[in-house]
Amino acid sequence: MKKLGIIAVAALSLGLTLSVQSATKPATAQAKTKVTVVWQKKMTQKAYQIDESKAAHGYAYTGKLAKKVFKLSNYPNTTFYAKGHEALKVNGKTRVYYYIQSASNKKKVGWVWRGYLTTPSMSGSTLMKTIANGTDLQPASSLLKQPASFYTKYAATLKKNFNLTGKLTNNTNDQIRVYVAKSQLKTYATKAMSVWNAALGQKVFVTGTATKHDLILSTQAASDWDGLNDGSHIYLSSTALADPTYVDSVADTPQIRELYTEYEKVAAAYKSATDAATKKADYDKGKALYNELIAAQKAAAPEATTYWQSVLVHEMGHSLGLDHTPYLTDIMYAETSDDGFSSAVTGKYSWNAPKDTNDSRRETPSVSARDIARAKLAEKLGYW
Ligand SMILES: [Zn+2]
Repeated sequence: MKKLGIIAVAALSLGLTLSVQSATKPATAQAKTKVTVVWQKKMTQKAYQIDESKAAHGYAYTGKLAKKVFKLSNYPNTTFYAKGHEALKVNGKTRVYYYIQSASNKKKVGWVWRGYLTTPSMSGSTLMKTIANGTDLQPASSLLKQPASFYTKYAATLKKNFNLTGKLTNNTNDQIRVYVAKSQLKTYATKAMSVWNAALGQKVFVTGTATKHDLILSTQAASDWDGLNDGSHIYLSSTALADPTYVDSVADTPQIRELYTEYEKVAAAYKSATDAATKKADYDKGKALYNELIAAQKAAAPEATTYWQSVLVHEMGHSLGLDHTPYLTDIMYAETSDDGFSSAVTGKYSWNAPKDTNDSRRETPSVSARDIARAKLAEKLGYW
C-alpha cells in the first residue's frame, strides 16, 4: 500500500506524463515505429541550448515521438529549460530524451534527444568576469565546455587573455604528424609526444614519415637559442646538443637568481670604482659570487636527456598554438614576453621576470594544469 502511494504521487507530480498520454493517439505515419517508455523522471530544472553542430536535422516531438512539434535548427539562440527526462526504446534502441520548454515562450515545449542539446553559451560579461576572477592565464573549466558558437564569437578575447598565438602548425584530421629527420632526436621526440598526448587524453602528436607529415624535427647550429619552432619545423640547437656542459647553466632557482642579481651589482660597482683598493675588494667579492653562482647552477642542473625532452615539449606546445607564460612551473615559461620579433604586446600583458619567483624552473618534460587548459582551449579555437 505504501509503495503504491509513492508511485502514484511520483506519476502525478511529474506532469510530463500528461504530454505522453495525450500523444498516445494513433500515429499514422509512424505506425511501424514501436516506441515504449523505459523510464521517466523529473529532473532539476537546467538550461540548455540547441547544439547547432549536431541538430541540423533534429526535431522536438510530442510524447513517445508521436508528432514533430518544431525544428530545432530554427531556435539556435533560444534558451530552453529541461524539467524531465525519459528513456525511450525506439525499435529496440534506447535513447534518453529531455522534456524542454522555451524560456521566452512557455508554449514551445517538446521532447528532444539529449544529444541535440548543449549547455548555453556564456555571455560576454560572464566571460570577462571569469577571466578576471580565475587563475592568471589559465582557462577555467567552464570556458572549455562552451558550444562551438562561443569560440567563434570570443576568439580574439580568448586568444589575447590566455596568450595564444593562433594556429601555427597544420594538422591532419586534428592530428599533427611528426617526422623526426634526425635520428639523434628520436627518443626525445617519442617522450615529448607522449607527454602531450597523455596530458590531453588524446593522440594529437602521431608519428609521420618523410613524405607524410605536418611537422619536421631537426637540428640547426645556433648559439642564441636551444629550441625553435617556425610552424613547419622544430629545431634543436646542434651547437648546444654537442656541448656536454650546456645544461650546467640552464637551472633557474630563487637562489640562482639572487646570486646573479648580487653578482651584477658587484660587477657594476667594480666598473665604477675609482680607487685601487675598492676595485680590488669588488673584484674579490665578484669572483667569490661568480664561483658560488656556478656551483649553484651545477647543483640544480637537470640531466641532459631530461632537459632536451623538456625543450621539445615546450616547442611542441607552440605547435598547439600556445605562446609563453611568466610562470616558471609552466612548460611554456619564458623569461620575457618579448619574442625578439616584435616589441608589441600581443598577449594579456608584458613581463621581464618570472611571476612565481619563489619557485624553480623544473626542467622536466612535464606540463602544468595551466599548460593543459591552454592547449585544450587552443583546440576549441581550432588551432589544432
Ligand atoms: Zn618558446
